[in-house]
Amino acid sequence: MLPFAHIGIAIALFYIASLAFPKVRPHIDYRYVIVGSMLPDIIDKTVGMILFADTFANGRIFAHALLFVVVLGAAGYYFYTRKGDHRLLTLAAGSLIHQLLDSMWKTPVTFLWPLLGWEFKRLEEYGSFWQFLQGVYGHLGDIGNPQMLSLFMTELLGLAVIMVFGVGYLRKKIR
Ligand SMILES: [Zn+2]
Repeated sequence: MLPFAHIGIAIALFYIASLAFPKVRPHIDYRYVIVGSMLPDIIDKTVGMILFADTFANGRIFAHALLFVVVLGAAGYYFYTRKGDHRLLTLAAGSLIHQLLDSMWKTPVTFLWPLLGWEFKRLEEYGSFWQFLQGVYGHLGDIGNPQMLSLFMTELLGLAVIMVFGVGYLRKKIR
């Protein structure tokens, strides 16, 4: 899934959770929701496609593994119980949503890393990160292709959520 979809759907899920659990509401900082929803890509695309592209040749590595969320969540739980600080826990939840939206269970070698071996899969074809972005966004209009159509629709949905939230946020600020 692409950035707007990740961010928008994570915001929507947190918002639904805040309606279902009103006690949680005051503790949700949406800036951390947004960063958390993109954190696995921020880390893995940087490490696996920019810094160490020759080694990994893959934009889904460590931070797309469940272990990443477990470690982040454990640290977050520690800070929450000791210091009442929710930020790391929010990042962990956002990252878990990211992994699920990426359907990471379909790539168990990565998702369950390192249970099934230490190596990550290398993508057969890869270029620079910018070529990757161009490849994805360049084909987004190719909506005859069902996979591209679903990417396109989820990006639109994410963008819509972000805009509705952005407007709501600005209105609150102005008042
Ligand atoms: Zn991802």
